[in-house]
Amino acid sequence: MAEPPIDVPLLDLHSQLSRIRVQVERAIAAVLDHGRFILGPEVARLEQELARMTGAGHVVGCSSGTDALLVALLAYGVGPGDAVLVPSFTFVATAEAVVRCGATPVFVDVRADTLTVDPESVAAGQARAREAGLRPVGLIPVDLFGQPADYDTLAKVATAGELWVLADAAQSLGGSLAGRPVGSLAEVTATSFFPAKPLGCYGDGGALFTDSAELAARFRSLRVHGRGSDTYDNVLVGLNARLDTLQAAILLAKLEVFSDELARRRAIADRYTAALAEVVAVPGVLAGAMSAWACYTVRVADRDRVRERLRQAGIASAVYYRTPLHRQPAFSAFPTAPGRLAVSDKAASEVLSLPSHPYLEEATQDRVIEALQSAAALLG
Ligand SMILES: *Cc1c(COP(=O)(O)O)cnc(C)c1O
Repeated sequence: MAEPPIDVPLLDLHSQLSRIRVQVERAIAAVLDHGRFILGPEVARLEQELARMTGAGHVVGCSSGTDALLVALLAYGVGPGDAVLVPSFTFVATAEAVVRCGATPVFVDVRADTLTVDPESVAAGQARAREAGLRPVGLIPVDLFGQPADYDTLAKVATAGELWVLADAAQSLGGSLAGRPVGSLAEVTATSFFPAKPLGCYGDGGALFTDSAELAARFRSLRVHGRGSDTYDNVLVGLNARLDTLQAAILLAKLEVFSDELARRRAIADRYTAALAEVVAVPGVLAGAMSAWACYTVRVADRDRVRERLRQAGIASAVYYRTPLHRQPAFSAFPTAPGRLAVSDKAASEVLSLPSHPYLEEATQDRVIEALQSAAALLG
């Protein structure tokens, strides 16, 4: 028998494009006309707009979220013998950047309510790193699914442990904590403009945010081969990690609708939470936190069968993430905090992300709600 077609996709970049197509095409044409494809004027303009939006003193565009993390770690001088504390329940890039610098990721667990870094696990992970003969230097909290991590508590743990804090905000640009925007919640913040992120471009892109003029200068040097004040002067060993002018131009056009899109994402999340709280575990939100709602992710026992039922109803869903990093073949040899990262393991077996993009109509949201309600009733 033929599989029923999926008519409710997880993402819908087309609806967004039809809304802003004229502005996007005009922005691209302007770049084609001036021809400054590498670090052209749109990159600086985007950096200024993002600084204004987040309150960060300095913004540095990068070639991707992964490269933004890498540039930040290089700027901190991270290398062999250093340990960086990283949640196990995240996208692979968070830990990959650490290993790329020659340092060792030490995996820590996440909180059961928000799935962001558990501060207690950070302290324990730090002790574990020392036992392994490593020097713990920093922490990378991840703003999973769009919600800022608990930066106030994490700052205390980091200060006590003399750790720098690099926020992996690849999923959370547009979010905030106690009124402070993502981009200003840690000493350094890295974000991604991958098309599926809350603010996505039409290719790869990313950015770094900091109030430190010194770190910002190092980011600017590192993203262009570690260059000094003269183009052919190399003061650091860097890489090619620049944001393309074309992508910056596209992002400037997308910024025009970004706050409206965030409001729509929030409204959908509120509707889902109201309708689904009795049926599945809905996302926990910290007091004072505003998620950017990159994903709306519920937790449910028998997840794979619930997912299959949604698929039968024509509804796409996704599992972020099926395997925590400490169980991935490429990362399983690295140290973990004590306690077996039980929350990460359990989350991996239960998470299910639902369609929640800003152009999802209310009637379609209702279809998702009803399909999940009936699947959970049948299987729960
Ligand atoms: C997407 C993502 C990244 C990497 O961003 P890219 O732009 O794809 O390189 C890093 N960390 C997290 C948590 C992400 O979701």
